[in-house]
Amino acid sequence: MSTVIEQSIETYGIDNWGADYFGVNRKGNLIVKAPENENLTADVKEIIDDLRKRGVNTPVLLRFPQLLFGQIRKLQTAFRKSIKEFEYEGGHLCVFPMKVNSNRAVIEEYLREGTRYNFGLEAGSKAELYAALGLEQAKDSLLVLNGFKDREFIELAFAGAAAGKNVVIVIEKLSELDHTLDLAEKIHAENPDADLPIIGVRVKLYSKGSGKWEKSGGEAAKFGLTTTEILEVIRRLQEAGRIDMFKLLHFHIGSQLTDIKRIKNAMKEAARTYAKIRQMKIPIEYLDVGGGMAVDYDGSRTSFESSANYNAREFANDVIYVIKTVCDDENVPHPTIIQESGRYLSAYHAILVTNVQDEIETVVEPHDAEMKLDANDPQIVHELHDLRDTINAKNYREYYHDALENRDELFTMFNLGLISLEAKGKGEVLFWDICEAADKFAQLKKYVAEEFDELRQLMCAKYLTNFSVFRSMPDNWALEQLFPIIPIHKLNKKPTEYATLCDITCDSDGIVDKFVDLHDVKPVLELHKLVKSEPYYLAMMLVGAYQEVMGNNHNLFGMPHEAHVFIGEDGYIIKKVIYGATLGDAVGSVRFDPEQLHDTFRKSVLQRIKEGKLSNTEGSKVIEFYEDQVGSYTYLTPNGGKG
Ligand SMILES: *Cc1c(COP(=O)(O)O)cnc(C)c1O
Repeated sequence: MSTVIEQSIETYGIDNWGADYFGVNRKGNLIVKAPENENLTADVKEIIDDLRKRGVNTPVLLRFPQLLFGQIRKLQTAFRKSIKEFEYEGGHLCVFPMKVNSNRAVIEEYLREGTRYNFGLEAGSKAELYAALGLEQAKDSLLVLNGFKDREFIELAFAGAAAGKNVVIVIEKLSELDHTLDLAEKIHAENPDADLPIIGVRVKLYSKGSGKWEKSGGEAAKFGLTTTEILEVIRRLQEAGRIDMFKLLHFHIGSQLTDIKRIKNAMKEAARTYAKIRQMKIPIEYLDVGGGMAVDYDGSRTSFESSANYNAREFANDVIYVIKTVCDDENVPHPTIIQESGRYLSAYHAILVTNVQDEIETVVEPHDAEMKLDANDPQIVHELHDLRDTINAKNYREYYHDALENRDELFTMFNLGLISLEAKGKGEVLFWDICEAADKFAQLKKYVAEEFDELRQLMCAKYLTNFSVFRSMPDNWALEQLFPIIPIHKLNKKPTEYATLCDITCDSDGIVDKFVDLHDVKPVLELHKLVKSEPYYLAMMLVGAYQEVMGNNHNLFGMPHEAHVFIGEDGYIIKKVIYGATLGDAVGSVRFDPEQLHDTFRKSVLQRIKEGKLSNTEGSKVIEFYEDQVGSYTYLTPNGGKG
């Protein structure tokens, strides 16, 4: 492998965050490896070229179900090994939280693999439950219901139990218990042998997680019952003669839990609570430890927000060890552990690939080394000219500061009407020349002062990228969550540009200017120079958790095209293409009716024909063109290659 390729792997951190799923081939293209056999690979650039030939342009979301399977197996294996190692006597089951990615393709593929291990689903709303009830789950898997529930929600849970599913109603509020007991009575009266749902209780732990979602845990958390409330649940269940329905204890202290120490503390507290309830002769079988296993998006293996200081093995070991220790100490049986990890299972499997459409010019160009000044040019321009011609490795910092002051003065003078447009133009060119020189000198130093990091960001290229941050990477905008971004080709060529990304929404927040780095956060990304007639493609990695379902319609950019890719002996197979949103879909999402829009447009054109401003033929053409747009893609048409 060439050293340039090795360098690219390091620059973009592929081996740090890639979990062994990604690499670069000899052609310098990004590849995805099948987890079951890393010799089976798919060339992402080839997939995109192939799709393009079929008329499926970027942006495209590529889904690799095998990576979802890979994560499921990784987690299952980790727990199986820990259970064996610590002689744990309970089992381990997962339920996939549908809110993390409720797309049919994801849920169906998850169930396909998960069924082998009796993995089930978790639903947090009526719609999620409604979907879950219509899917086939393994006979011994659970369907756990979290979130706030009204009577209808609970009735739907009973319908699930009647259909033979192991539905668990997790009580988040006491009113939910009242509805549950009431419905249980009704059904029991009709049929004493009817299957009833399981009752679970969510505890409010004192322990908190770490990272962005710290507030999901602790005493002030939105969810969970206090100790007094749990005792009240037990009392009411006993009174109703239904204590045997209470089989699960649940907690969830937040998503993307970055610090294993905090997780262990929560496990201790929850295990102790389980043990104490168990000692009250209540046969709880399941301890549901929630979700929250973090994805190491930046690959730094730290407790930084976009990282995690543990892997699946360490997580499983700690969970099993802590729960076993507490249970043995309290002399109660080991519960079956239920895990609700969503992010960890689904993040890796989806990649958004799109093209850089163009570059946005911000720095004044061209640099005019020959710029001649004369007595008519104002003093301020002369000063900038002198700075530019005499800046060097020793004085660059001071000169850069002088240039900043001079530029402010230049603008002030212009606003006061003291200098001409031409003089202002000259001053700007000189200012950027000085910045460029200062940047060059600054970056030669071992430690680059912070102000020059900012300068670099100011000076860097801005790549107009054909996607919407709000639709496809909303957590980057809302939470400053980092996602690895990497070119899918040219990785055998050294990147020569520093760039930030601008998306195509008309929103100044639609930018990406923070990038993953092993030690810090990069303000700019190393990318290749754009070549006019060639497309340049970037991949936004690890976007399979939350991004698709949290993404919004801002600026009416709809869902991107989607392709499902299987990696086999002969490379890749595109199993399915799902077309993205059309202009018709996009306006429909805000309740416009394309038919009605067409009618009104047609009327305006007919009026123009009547007024003699358009011929019949011209008019028909305009109408036809407009109406045709209903079926076109909401994103820009890539113009690399040809026109
Ligand atoms: C969101 C959520 C999860 C999933 O969390 P991840 O961080 O994606 O694993 C699990 N359980 C509950 C109750 C949740 O609200």
